[in-house]
Amino acid sequence: MRSIRPLLLTVLTAAALTVGAVSPASAAATTASAVTARVATETSAAAFRLPVAAKTYYLSSHFGPRCIPTQGGSTYHQGVDLAAKAGTPIYAIAAGVVTATVDGTSSRAGYVSVRHSIDGAQYTSTYMHVWSATTQVRVGQTVAAGQRISEVGNSGVSSGSHLHLELWKAGTNGSQAQNAAAFLQQRGIDLYASATAVTAPATPATCTYYTVGAVNFRTGPSTGYSILRTLPSGTAMTHVPGSITAGFIPVTVGSQAGWISASYVSPNKPSAPVTAPAPPPTYATTAPLNLRVSPSISAARILVIPQGANVGVILASSDVWRKVTYAGRTGWVHSAYLVKR
Ligand SMILES: [Zn+2]
Repeated sequence: MRSIRPLLLTVLTAAALTVGAVSPASAAATTASAVTARVATETSAAAFRLPVAAKTYYLSSHFGPRCIPTQGGSTYHQGVDLAAKAGTPIYAIAAGVVTATVDGTSSRAGYVSVRHSIDGAQYTSTYMHVWSATTQVRVGQTVAAGQRISEVGNSGVSSGSHLHLELWKAGTNGSQAQNAAAFLQQRGIDLYASATAVTAPATPATCTYYTVGAVNFRTGPSTGYSILRTLPSGTAMTHVPGSITAGFIPVTVGSQAGWISASYVSPNKPSAPVTAPAPPPTYATTAPLNLRVSPSISAARILVIPQGANVGVILASSDVWRKVTYAGRTGWVHSAYLVKR
């Protein structure tokens, strides 16, 4: 059942009060109120709709604290993710006016934003990860609840094609991110029940991340704080999901607590860098040394290697004997008279 709410009455009352006020801004306020009233009419008439058709998506990430899903991702998820095939139609969750259309690229998430007047408050719904944002709508266009406004894409930081739906409520202290799933559920639209499946993982108490490249580990959440040490690439750390300050997250490395820029962490351990193996050591003699044909004191002597001569690398070992080459001859010497160069 979809609940019918007295939206029109609420907003029209507010509009009437604004129109009646005597102020220098009254002309502008009247125009704005007229737009608000028109939007409210459509909102109350058409109510609320799913942003993607039922049973065509997986609910893949909850709103709220989470582990960073991919390098550059956020630790507090300000939207709800609906994973769907690329090109799946996206619908406005409520009537409103299109306020932004931003095309996506591989590095920037594209989106369409729609402003709504709901229960006397201003909300903005944002539909992210689209590629072209103007396939269906233009800024300033009025849309109805359930009207197709774009298509599911995979632009920006994203691990697969999905709609990231955000809902912001305007307030005196700026906009606050709302849980769109909870908001819609209160209005008769259940994002969870309408999903093919809910694949969103439960938020764990701590997340494990790894540094991407050498990263400074600091005493506080900005580059103004002193560096505890520089962590090599691939250093493991733990983090309490959701906590972030100005792009820095508090983490624990071993038993040491500090801060690190969230941009340089990944949930995936980077593959070990390819390093050339260290060359084997070479040796020199510390005394004149017999080079023998086999590893035995009784074996025939090939020649005497002078003190301080370079015998190169150890070719083989047998008990205390080492196989080396000197002056083009290969044989065995006693290891007691060899030293690493
Ligand atoms: Zn998301």
